[in-house]
Amino acid sequence: MSIPLTAPLIGVNRHRLATDGQGVTTLVAFHGCPLQCRYCLNDQCHDPERILRTATPEQLVDELAIDNLYFLATGGGVCFGGGEPLLYSEFIEAFCELKVPEWKVTVETSLNVPQHHLERLLPHIDQYFIDIKDCNPEIYRAYTGCDNKLVMSNLRWLIGHKGIAERIVMRLPLIPEYNTPDHVSRSRAMLAQMGVINFDEFEYRT
Ligand code: SF4
Repeated sequence: MSIPLTAPLIGVNRHRLATDGQGVTTLVAFHGCPLQCRYCLNDQCHDPERILRTATPEQLVDELAIDNLYFLATGGGVCFGGGEPLLYSEFIEAFCELKVPEWKVTVETSLNVPQHHLERLLPHIDQYFIDIKDCNPEIYRAYTGCDNKLVMSNLRWLIGHKGIAERIVMRLPLIPEYNTPDHVSRSRAMLAQMGVINFDEFEYRT
């Protein structure tokens, strides 16, 4: 008997428009994140007491199918966020193999995960929203408590695949007390040199 694949969720939000991918989307937020960002908006992802529930890929497909007509009519689908959704690559892969083929799949990720998660999901992801924080390793460490080596090597690996750069939206924040507009410009220049095309610059509100 095989053990069913389940994932802990902290939220499922329907009918999102133009916030995380094309068309109408449902945001599915997973529990758990390897980073400790100072201004984390989804802090419940670190607290096991605040897991809303668990779901299997089959249950999630059935649940999201209620919005099938919206997804098909608008070119929308599902956005996986969190927490860090790529830690659940096995779950997302199983979901993608069961879902309606036309549903688009978007992920909001820090990319700070072992590369095998990206490899597994490469054929399934239509758009990546990448929270890069800042490319300067000291700023990154001060803000997240973690190293960014894996982030940069994963990004290089992703962009090395034909057609993937076009699918990436790079979120580049001005982080009060941690970086400056000059740091943001330097990160942007470095990322553009690596092949990143689409940027979303904004300022964190503390
Ligand atoms: S990567 Fe996102 S979810 Fe994780 S700690 Fe940072 S802001 Fe929070």
